[in-house]
Amino acid sequence: MAEVILAIEDEEPVRDAIVAALEASGYKVITAQDGEEGLERLQAEGPDLVLLDLMLPKIGGMDVCTVIREHSEVPIVMLTGLAAEDDRVEGLCRGADDYITKPFRARELAARVRAVLRRSKYWSSDDQHLIELGELSVRPAARVVTLRGENVPLTPKEFDLLEYLVRNCGRVVPRERILERVWGEDEYIDPRTLDVHIRWLREKLEESPSEPKRILTVRGEGYKLMDI
Ligand code: CA
Repeated sequence: MAEVILAIEDEEPVRDAIVAALEASGYKVITAQDGEEGLERLQAEGPDLVLLDLMLPKIGGMDVCTVIREHSEVPIVMLTGLAAEDDRVEGLCRGADDYITKPFRARELAARVRAVLRRSKYWSSDDQHLIELGELSVRPAARVVTLRGENVPLTPKEFDLLEYLVRNCGRVVPRERILERVWGEDEYIDPRTLDVHIRWLREKLEESPSEPKRILTVRGEGYKLMDI
């Protein structure tokens, strides 16, 4: 079955170009003209990837990206007319997976979409995949973690937390989202529990737990796992 791409773009010619480019590559494309409609279609149709224009009327693309990330891990590729480094960095920090600068060529767009989809499938697969991040290896199915080839014994919650960070490697993951995904949103949980578990993970995975290089604290936001 064809993978479904949701394109949120207010300019009709650009929207048409996206549809043409991606349909030619075998994708099914659904479209939205603004952020609000985009969020509705995302919810209703559960696309495999979202192409999100940065400059949108009403709610801007960055804010749409933030809202999507509160609920969904769907891969997001930002479409931007601005090549400024700041926007790129901000987009990726807010949870976008990649970005593409307008004007783009059809082939470039399709290639970028394909690459992001491939990467996201790899991360979301629950099979026997070995996930290797520098010196750290994680086998989700076997729930085994090794550091420089040595087995690292983790409690179930430590494993869940690490696995969640690994699947979001290189991204800042907000505290609330970690609590929700790892501990469950209905359960009453002291937010400090997260910090305690992070400390335990650091004791097991960092050379110097007080100066972490692998699990970083992003002040006021959350945590980020580095690929080292
Ligand atoms: Ca626009």
